[in-house]
Amino acid sequence: MNPFTFIQPKDVDAVLAALAAPGARPIAGGTNLLDLIKEGVMRPSGLVDINPVASAGLDVIEEDGDGLRLGALARNADTASAPLVRERYPLLSAAILAGASPQLRNMATNGGNLLQRTRCVYFYDVGTPCNKREPGTGCPARAGINRQLAILGTSEQCIATHPSDMCVALRALDATVHVRAASGGRQIPFADFHRLPGDRPDVDSVLQPGELITHIVLPDARRFAQRFEYIKVRDRLSYAFALVSVAAALDVAADGTIRAARIALGGVAHKPWRVEAAEDLLAGQRATESAFARTADRILQGARGYGQNDFKIPLARNAIIQALTRALQKGEQR
Ligand SMILES: Cc1cc2nc3c(=O)[nH]c(=O)nc-3n(C[C@H](O)[C@H](O)[C@H](O)COP(=O)(O)OP(=O)(O)OC[C@H]3O[C@@H](n4cnc5c(N)ncnc54)[C@H](O)[C@@H]3O)c2cc1C
Ligand code: SF4
Repeated sequence: MNPFTFIQPKDVDAVLAALAAPGARPIAGGTNLLDLIKEGVMRPSGLVDINPVASAGLDVIEEDGDGLRLGALARNADTASAPLVRERYPLLSAAILAGASPQLRNMATNGGNLLQRTRCVYFYDVGTPCNKREPGTGCPARAGINRQLAILGTSEQCIATHPSDMCVALRALDATVHVRAASGGRQIPFADFHRLPGDRPDVDSVLQPGELITHIVLPDARRFAQRFEYIKVRDRLSYAFALVSVAAALDVAADGTIRAARIALGGVAHKPWRVEAAEDLLAGQRATESAFARTADRILQGARGYGQNDFKIPLARNAIIQALTRALQKGEQR
């Protein structure tokens, strides 16, 4: 048994003061953190329940001058079903609905979704070594059970993937994460929020101890609201994490020329994977399967498998081509 304190501050300043204590962690929906505590993977010295401060703007889903503002404490289910999100950011809605189960989405929050931890089996099993759980102990996944794991951006230390669906759409749509600490606030572009493992696989994101995610902002994405697709390939139809997922959106001119493309992948790296240079290959082009294939090859440049997950490279290529094709067709059906 690892003892920890549990407090429920009544305002955001009190939350930030409590989070400044060493080893303190916020708890939101608890759908990932409580599992990790029960398994002995995470051992916070104190839990700070942030739910009582939801009404201080942390549960909003609204548009303002900057775009769509998603409170960190807004539930995944409420976010996906909000008319504003469904009409103007349908790619985000589709990605969220591809994740977990209705019960989990009712509990899970937007902030917690960003910080959920990898599902690598060794990470959850405290009886095995794992550099992410205990730095310096090794990575049995490289030559072991790695069907679920990464093919891009890996390191000698870790080949884990980030398991979120929502984050794949947030990456494609250029989100910004807004955080606050007792010492002040800052904004983090989504591209920089999650880390590649490098030689510090134990550190998942650039969030510092004591920092609280307050909200996420998405710029106006209406030009990508007609032609979009979220494909999630998984071992079971529901309640399973992605082997590979693709969030794709196209902005197509009346003459069929692509004005802009957005493509991000999940299940393939330690963070949602996006290669802007590959999207640029499509800009100004006619939408053809060969153009989509060239883009897929550019996104997957440098991909490598570790045995059980070799299949992910052709799988991801096909999923990218299919997502772009379906996004295009969706626009034609409207
Ligand atoms: C069986 C199962 C299946 C699932 N399937 C999927 C799936 O297919 N796709 C998918 O994307 N997800 C899936 N999930 C994961 C689920 O989406 C996450 O557990 C959930 O989004 C986490 O949100 P939470 O609010 O419960 O976070 P919590 O568990 O409360 O917290 C998670 C982490 O975030 C931190 N945190 C929470 N809020 C903040 C904040 N505002 N600021 C700073 N830190 C914060 C916590 O300290 C903790 O470290 C699944 C989960 C389960 C249990
Ligand atoms: S891939 Fe990462 S999380 Fe999995 S065993 Fe290796 S170090 Fe641990």
